[in-house]
This record gives sequence, C-alpha cells and structure tokens, in this order.
Amino acid sequence: TNLDNKKPVIPEGYSGEGFHATTLDHLIGLGRSHSLWPLPFATSCCGIEFMATMGSNYDLGRFGAERMGFTPRQCDVLLVAGTISKKLAPVLRQVYLQMAEPRWVVAIGACASSGGIFDSYSVLQGIDQVIPVDVYVPGCPPRPEGILDGIMRIQDLVKNESIRRRTHPRYKQLMESYGIE
Ligand code: SF4
Repeated sequence: TNLDNKKPVIPEGYSGEGFHATTLDHLIGLGRSHSLWPLPFATSCCGIEFMATMGSNYDLGRFGAERMGFTPRQCDVLLVAGTISKKLAPVLRQVYLQMAEPRWVVAIGACASSGGIFDSYSVLQGIDQVIPVDVYVPGCPPRPEGILDGIMRIQDLVKNESIRRRTHPRYKQLMESYGIE
C-alpha cells in the first residue's frame, strides 16, 4: 500500500502477492537462456562426447537446448567440437557470420580451444583466431559434464547480456577486432 503517495521502489525480481516485478531485459534473457538453439560444428572425437551429452544419461534437453539446428540463421549458440584444420577455418567463420545476432560460441575441448595436441602446420591453433569465443571447455575430450557446464555458463551470459549485447561498446570493439561489422 502506498500510503504516503510516493512512487514505490520495486527491486528487481521482487515478488509480492499476485505480481512479480522485473524488467523486459531480464524476462527476455531468462526465456532465451532456456531455449537455446545450438549449432553443433563437430569434426572429430570431441563430437562423440557431444553425442553422449545429447543422450538420455546427460540429456541436454533438460537445459532447453535439445533442438539442434543445422541452419546457421536459426541458431544462437555455435558449439565447436573437434580439430579445425586451417582449410576449414574460413567455413567455420562463414557459418558464424551467417548466424543472427545475438550469438554465442563455445569451444569444446583442447583442439577447438588451442589446437590441442596437433601443433601442426595444418591445424588452426584455436578457433579464437578466426571467431570470438565466449566459453572454453577444457579436456581432451571433455566429459559430458564439462560440456553441460559450458552450456550453463552460456546460459548465465545470455541471462546477463540481455537484448543489448549487440550494441554494447565492448562487444562492438570485439567484433571490430575480428573484422566483423
Ligand atoms: Fe579429439 Fe582431444 Fe581434439 Fe577432442 S581435444 S578433438 S578428443 S584430440
């Protein structure tokens, strides 16, 4: 009851009887974080661990991310699992560029994160040489629990970054550093 006729100050996420105060940003972030559409870019052994992550034992569907997409324009999380050769790097970048904003990237395993054991002339020494990465999942290969942890970290980012990610100055700066407008 607003007895003194002042505007009530309602803290973020405050719940009272019959109402819940929040912001549109928060609501969209919450919805988006629990309905991610991943695009699996799996090239080798880490991809097999990803398959296990999708299976009933680990069940990525519990996180609302079971709907895999193979059309970049429909997806918002790029899951790169496996060794990426230098020849494949332009394809990976093209796929990333075809995804609509906002988009996030997970490097699953040592190869995607840093080239892993393949310190070779033909292997990209980390996908962050061609596209920005939001979460790195360590391991060779990472266990499904690690991959799930990576997805949960992405969920946190999605919740917090809200709808203003693409216009954030730091994000714009990051894109510019990759030559992406
Ligand atoms: Fe295979 Fe290890 Fe590379 Fe994963 S990190 S793709 S398991 S070699």
